Amino acid sequence: MKKILIAFAFLMGAFFMANAKTNKEFVIVIQAGHGGAEAGAKAADGTLEKELTLAYAKELQKLASENNFRIVMCREDDTFFDLSQRPDFAKQYKADLFIILHFNMDAANAGKRGFECFVATQGNVMENKVLGKFMGAELHNTAGIKFNGVNTHNMLNLSLISVPVALLNLGYMSSESDMAVIKTEEGKKEICQKILNAIIRYKAHFEAN
Ligand SMILES: [Zn+2]
Repeated sequence: MKKILIAFAFLMGAFFMANAKTNKEFVIVIQAGHGGAEAGAKAADGTLEKELTLAYAKELQKLASENNFRIVMCREDDTFFDLSQRPDFAKQYKADLFIILHFNMDAANAGKRGFECFVATQGNVMENKVLGKFMGAELHNTAGIKFNGVNTHNMLNLSLISVPVALLNLGYMSSESDMAVIKTEEGKKEICQKILNAIIRYKAHFEAN
């Protein structure tokens, strides 16, 4: 009988621990690239990257909040966010995920199009790969824009952030075709919905492991 009770207590403990993980608020930090004096890329029509990243960050914030995620924004207006703050920011807000939004520019090659995802080569390598895979699967062929692949980059110091990080380049501002999608409300909604879908898939993976 004692053994059965111990086994029962153990099972209940495991149940509550699993439940605690499932019920924990899932926190996502969103960083809109650039801001303030740092405008980022500039499209032929004068659109600045810092404006686009903020608009996309706010759309993603809205969609994710509606899906019961807790969102922490690195910036909510046209201010500069110091990149060296990122690791502390993730710790301070007990983040589960860090999403960084940028757009691409290749002035010498106006035909270059597509989405890209950068992940760190150190730190949460395996989890970063999973997150990148979900981003690629969801974003590929969104509004006619293809996914160019998951890349790694050591220079971005992403590995200093203690949680999985995806840095997304959401199309080329030097491409008229990409801009025709990126700049529209429908394009923004569709792309942000796909990012959210990838986050939902990552959360399910996180909770199952
Ligand atoms: Zn950028």
